[in-house]
Amino acid sequence: MTNVVSLFSDTQKYEEKPVVVLADDDPSIRLMVRHVLESEEFDIVEASDGLEAIKAVEKHHPALILLDAVMPGIDGFTTCQQIKDKGYTDIPVMMITGLDDDASVERAYEVGAIDFITKPIKWAVLKHRVKSVVAKVIAERKVKLLAYRDSLTSLPNRLLFADRLEQAIIRCERSRASMALMLIDIDDFKLVNDSFGHEAGDKLIKAVGQLISRSLRRADTIARLGGDEFAVIIEGIESPEDTISIADNLTTILEHNVRLDDQETYTSASIGIAVYPDDGKDARTLLKNADTAMFRAKENGRHCFQFYKPEMSVTAMERLDLENSLKAAFENDEFMILYQPVIDIQKSEIVSVEALLRWRHPDKGMIHPTDFISIVEDSGLIVALGEWLIVSACKQLQQWQEAGLKDQRISINIAPRQFREQDLVVVFKQALAEHNIPASSLCIEVTESTLIENNGKVEATLKNLRDMGMQVSLDDFGTGYASLAFLKDSPVDMVKIDRAFIAGIPENREDSAIVDAICGLAKGLGLAVMAEGVENIRQLNVLQNNGCQYAQGFYWSKPMPGDEYEQFYMNQIYNIG
Ligand code: C2E
Ligand code: MG
Ligand code: MG
Repeated sequence: MTNVVSLFSDTQKYEEKPVVVLADDDPSIRLMVRHVLESEEFDIVEASDGLEAIKAVEKHHPALILLDAVMPGIDGFTTCQQIKDKGYTDIPVMMITGLDDDASVERAYEVGAIDFITKPIKWAVLKHRVKSVVAKVIAERKVKLLAYRDSLTSLPNRLLFADRLEQAIIRCERSRASMALMLIDIDDFKLVNDSFGHEAGDKLIKAVGQLISRSLRRADTIARLGGDEFAVIIEGIESPEDTISIADNLTTILEHNVRLDDQETYTSASIGIAVYPDDGKDARTLLKNADTAMFRAKENGRHCFQFYKPEMSVTAMERLDLENSLKAAFENDEFMILYQPVIDIQKSEIVSVEALLRWRHPDKGMIHPTDFISIVEDSGLIVALGEWLIVSACKQLQQWQEAGLKDQRISINIAPRQFREQDLVVVFKQALAEHNIPASSLCIEVTESTLIENNGKVEATLKNLRDMGMQVSLDDFGTGYASLAFLKDSPVDMVKIDRAFIAGIPENREDSAIVDAICGLAKGLGLAVMAEGVENIRQLNVLQNNGCQYAQGFYWSKPMPGDEYEQFYMNQIYNIG
């Protein structure tokens, strides 16, 4: 079950009216002070004795305390002393007293009062003194807030968090206790920022901060470390189960349908957990390991939590290495494209090819995209690499044309990030124009998750590309969440049945039923169907009988370099199938 929260109700602590605690046993004095000060935009909290005053201070953390020196029970001096002893040293105290003998004055300063108002009270003087002291306190608090608090959420910032973490470690060390550090990262936050704007992004951050704060104990430290990342310190952990239930609860609470600018969007978060002392005895190690665990949670499909495990560090390092090697590989021209023919199995002819990326590693040989494409996408290299691929495909089409191959078409796989971070319409237009290729020679393949992100930009781009004459295929169909209703409104021309289902036909009855259903469904919706990964004649026969029109697979050919395809096309055009 997901919840719906509105992001439009939020007040920040430092914007509230400053509170003044007033302790006097004489109700007529309290009435007068209230009358004079309330008109000056203060909130007055009254107390009729010292103990009540202390309680009010603890509850309201006021900007100023006014204390009558002589009260029943504990007197003003003792009250002041106790307030200071409790640690409220930053709240100024003013004494109201009829006693203006030297000893009383001395005593008041000794216990920490900053000023005196003598009875009978001169109201104008009181008003101005209170105003100037409170203004100073508010200014100091704001400075502190800016230095140690995140201005958007009012939560501790990275600086204050670092201090709290150090303190927590010292406490745990002393009491031989355990604690958990959790790093919480909103999934796909960038998407919200890109599609709804920064203001909406800010609202989401605030809402998440509130949700985390509400679901934890007051004693737990919650901080915003920056961007869409929050951190939580949970002390007093007795067993791993404690941490699991807190993390589980947080993941559930952070799963929301959030209304942003009239549109509902889904949010979730990934959590990485490092436990003191097992996963690190100092702040730096704990943070690093919680971060590694968080990264793994993202990899595991997001919206989940993950405890740190020592072997993760190795993979994180390897990942970094791979990311650097990939960037170098791009500069060194180590990427190449292979082309796999697509066959019209009803007419037995080649209709197009799919462009598939390969990394020609100088030592390790040919590496398949499954081993690196997620890192290329995460690191952002996909934008430059994708552009290179589009231009190269158009160049290849031009070369085939010049070699006498007529009406060739290429399908190109496009990753979600390419929609977000570049104007694909411009990239395609330029590449097509430069090589004198009609847009109808290109088809792009997107996965269900790209479409499902419900990103207005993806839809608009796809629409533009189709208007130009390009086709759009929905790749790996059946592995994601796309439903019938979803397909009906999607800007796609063709579905490609994932090869996992093709592998099972005709022996596996479930796979056969799914393939049969997809073919029927697509037909009903006026969409073309293609089967991936056809490896034998039995599969081909089933597909032909189901009315599937296109297929690709090792049965005809593995992906091959562009010049080899030229030969393949020339030799086999008349004897396929
Ligand atoms: P895909 O787009 O679904 O591509 C089809 C994959 O199935 C290719 O693997 C192809 O070699 C493989 N295949 C084709 N016929 C058969 C068969 O009969 N049997 C078997 N077992 N496999 C077959 P490849 O080239 O390793 O690509 C894997 C995935 O990597 C692609 O899946 C695609 O999602 C991604 N990819 C490839 N090139 C690009 C690219 O340029 N950009 C992006 N973003 N992703 C790419
Ligand atoms: Mg594909
Ligand atoms: Mg596919």
